[in-house]
Amino acid sequence: AADLDWESFVHPEDVAYREALLTALRERTPFEGRARVRSADGSWRWIAASARPRVDALGRQVGMIGVSADITDQIAASQLEQEAARQKDTFIAVLAHELRNPLAPIRTAVGVMRSAPAGERDLLEQCRDIIDRQVTQMSRLLDDLLDVSRLSHGKLSLQRGRVRVRTVLASAVETVRPAIDDKRHTLLVDPVDEALVLDGDAARLTQVFANLLHNAAKYTNPCGRIDVRVTSGADRVTVSVRDTGIGIPPAMRERIFDLFSQVEGAHDRADGGLGIGLGLTRRLVDMHDGTITVESAGVGHGSVFSVTLPLAGPGASEGRDAAIDDSRVAVPDGRRVLIVDDNVDAADMLATLLDIHGCEVRTSYDGRHALVEAAGFRPHLVLLDLGMPGLDGQTVCRRLRAEPHGAGMVIAAVTGWGQDEDRRRTRDAGFDYHLVKPVDLDAVVALVRGLPARP
Ligand code: ADP
Repeated sequence: AADLDWESFVHPEDVAYREALLTALRERTPFEGRARVRSADGSWRWIAASARPRVDALGRQVGMIGVSADITDQIAASQLEQEAARQKDTFIAVLAHELRNPLAPIRTAVGVMRSAPAGERDLLEQCRDIIDRQVTQMSRLLDDLLDVSRLSHGKLSLQRGRVRVRTVLASAVETVRPAIDDKRHTLLVDPVDEALVLDGDAARLTQVFANLLHNAAKYTNPCGRIDVRVTSGADRVTVSVRDTGIGIPPAMRERIFDLFSQVEGAHDRADGGLGIGLGLTRRLVDMHDGTITVESAGVGHGSVFSVTLPLAGPGASEGRDAAIDDSRVAVPDGRRVLIVDDNVDAADMLATLLDIHGCEVRTSYDGRHALVEAAGFRPHLVLLDLGMPGLDGQTVCRRLRAEPHGAGMVIAAVTGWGQDEDRRRTRDAGFDYHLVKPVDLDAVVALVRGLPARP
């Protein structure tokens, strides 16, 4: 070992190892250490070495004996583990921050509502809008989180059908409209040819474009401009979302599509997110056999995200066109709705809302009472919470269906669980609809509106 060129054999950052080893050799003392050493092919490998003085039969020291093991792979694995743990910690911190953010304005709004002088309609309206917006923001975060977990377990599946590009874009715009208006952006959407039809999942495709539009609104200073262009070829369509925002540095252009990745500093924006939107978007586009790309002339020069998707052939599966009916008609008067929820506040608020919309509403705070109420009140619609102590929602639904008066009722499950598996279970229990909390009030109103006219 003496004639070994230690300088070039041991990695320069591991000189402590080299020195300890040389000392041990000189003084014949036990040695243990790990370092990077140069391997035969010239690359650095991590080794763990240990050596002991060797003693002959008479107890005299006659040298050192030792072993060294290549631990490069272990080191790499543990570095990956540490990196994953670090990412998870960062993510949890960001998540906590992002979920706490909307709570502050909600709490303030509630305080204002409590102390507002009676009759202050404007003030109440303002508070209502704040709460509405913040709750929407929180629900978005939670939906994204659940999607990420579905993705990582391979459980995200598409409900395919024939979908018009125009419909998908219209509902994406509708979703993001408040965010765009809030920042006084101008949004221009190319007219879209009615004949452009995709074979895909309407809700997921809407999510793709809503995410891109939402980011465009978020990462553009107020009074910016967002353009949606649609170009099509024989068998594909490209939708691009262009903004006049903060742009994306070249080095980040691929990485922003990774889960949990954000451009440095972007997160300081008041409406930052979890860094999962684009990761999800890309996966959803992939699942539709499409591609997504980004261009940006650099920081401060805006960004363009382009999604290219295959068009459905003329003979493609003739499914339901998931068109969105946006005709706004009033709820017919006098629909009877029974709301069942052990969360008294949730039940009462929903009752108030439906009452305002002209429904006749009753509430039950437990399953047994709900069965009695349903028999007397004969509701057209039952909004039924699933998780309740005593009789749970599934059981209430089964029992209702078993009664002559319950067979024709429209029964909607209201639940925090929205996975495919959960939806299958409610369908099996006899529910007509599955609404995920927090329920979209427009969806409930639409549901009531669509109830068949019955005495
Ligand atoms: P989030 O917006 O929650 O941080 P995303 O996955 O949607 O997560 O986006 C990842 C990152 O990409 C953002 O943090 C932001 O830095 C950058 N980004 C996305 N869209 C734009 C855009 N239109 N303009 C500038 N930067 C963007």
